[in-house]
Amino acid sequence: MTIYTSSKPDQVIPSINAYSFAISNPNNTKDSHPVLVDALTKRTITFGEWKRDTRRWATGLESLGFKRGDVLALFSFNQIDYSITMFGSLLLGGVCTTVNSAYTADELAFQLEDSGASVIVTHPELLPVAIEGAKKVGIPMNKILLYGNEFVQGFRPYSSTFPPENTPESQLAQVVNLNGQPALETTALICYSSGTTGKSKGVELTHVNFISNTAQIGPMDGNIPPHENVVLGVLPMYHIYGIQLHLMNGIYNGNKTVVLQKFTPVDFLKTIQDFKIQTLIIVPPQILMMVKAPIVDQYDLSHVHQVMSGAAPCPAELSRALVAKFKHISFRQGYGMSELSPATHVGIYGEPVHGSIGKVMPNVRVRLVDPDTGKDAAQGEPGEIWIRGPNVMKGYRNNVKATRDTIDSEGWLHTGDIAIVDENENFFIVDRLKELIKYKGFQVAPAELEALLIAHPQILDAAVIGVENKEQATEVPLAFVVKNPGQDLTEQQVMDYVASKVAVHKKLRGGVRFIDVIPKSAAGKILRKDLRVMIQKDTQPV
Ligand code: AMP
Repeated sequence: MTIYTSSKPDQVIPSINAYSFAISNPNNTKDSHPVLVDALTKRTITFGEWKRDTRRWATGLESLGFKRGDVLALFSFNQIDYSITMFGSLLLGGVCTTVNSAYTADELAFQLEDSGASVIVTHPELLPVAIEGAKKVGIPMNKILLYGNEFVQGFRPYSSTFPPENTPESQLAQVVNLNGQPALETTALICYSSGTTGKSKGVELTHVNFISNTAQIGPMDGNIPPHENVVLGVLPMYHIYGIQLHLMNGIYNGNKTVVLQKFTPVDFLKTIQDFKIQTLIIVPPQILMMVKAPIVDQYDLSHVHQVMSGAAPCPAELSRALVAKFKHISFRQGYGMSELSPATHVGIYGEPVHGSIGKVMPNVRVRLVDPDTGKDAAQGEPGEIWIRGPNVMKGYRNNVKATRDTIDSEGWLHTGDIAIVDENENFFIVDRLKELIKYKGFQVAPAELEALLIAHPQILDAAVIGVENKEQATEVPLAFVVKNPGQDLTEQQVMDYVASKVAVHKKLRGGVRFIDVIPKSAAGKILRKDLRVMIQKDTQPV
């Protein structure tokens, strides 16, 4: 058996409450240090305020009847308070489920019910969706709280639950001790992912899972020059990539994270310029924008010394174009998945290998396994990435079968991604075995769209695959549809129907193809490879 490990030493991963870990860095103790800044309003949270407000919020949560094991849902685009609401729940031994802010009421209701959430914090802009979602699953209206300071339609801000400013420390909620086994077993986060197959599932990450990734990534920084580390907080905080890097890693390392609520090219560029951002942790379409959009030249990006890309493939030609244009930028890529808290591979700072997802991180064990034979792939040959490590999820919530299908009896998590490794132990993703489609880093589960399409009265059968859109540096979902006999249905009608039911990132941007029959195996499994071949044939030059 060939097991790939890191060239860096394994790290000590403390088995404690994730909150205690976040504030435990001996190099990061200054209470006056700004840790979170709102890019637009400039409101700032210092480390001292962060520590106090997480405890005050935990006290407020307790006053709502929230206790250890209860689930708090965060339904918002980025906020500087997002981190406070998350860690306030974790310190109580509570669980956080983070919901994509683009979700419809039905999508939200599914996650609220599946995760067992009892309290929701949302943004006033999303209140109508939050109310509808909460009503569908019977969460009382007084358990919906808001970011910001305003009361809106009788709904109160989360900070209104805080005890008075002058409350002595001793009267604030205490951090629940999870030392030892409890930290290995207690769920901290429930993120949603379709994994290798089917619909969205609750990924349970424990306190140790959550801690481990921040501990693991440190040695991969190589000879990064000393700097203040001003980071642009533009990754969505509801996705594990943002949760780990902007929330846990940001607080632990004492970064100054300048938070953008939503991505727009102008806000992105202006924030980088005005706040002298040093580190960009972004997704490939944003890199494409930096390389191609003429507007970029109007801004000063000279303080950025590193760009890290993750969540989706970043083609070698794209990162090469980035460093050719911005000569002072060091580029690296990371790879992972929600089920891995999330990262297992990252490039070493200052040693760019374009097209590579990087090298194995400390504490992670990797195999590349030929999916057909179940044997280790020969040197240089492609194989499915299998992972063991402290960052491997506890399992899918209430779904023993999906957990067993993903993590085998020896603890290897089968990622569904196919990679090769070169002689320097740089990994390259070359294919995806699983159904998952990634639109600009966001998950689109074909099974979910297929279920929607099949529910349409004029549709007999359907299959959805991802197709590459080079102009936007992303995949887009495309549907193959079999109409019911004699039905008069247009491609546009199918696209509009889907768009009316799902979050924007799941729209059928790749279009709709009508066909006579969906190719399936004898067992009824959609033969996605055959569908991909049909698309390739269509797009090949004649
Ligand atoms: P998520 O759980 O949303 O983070 O999605 C995880 C999946 O995104 C992985 O299993 C990969 O298919 C894909 N992915 C993440 N990072 C990369 C990367 N650097 N290159 C290629 N695919 C990636």
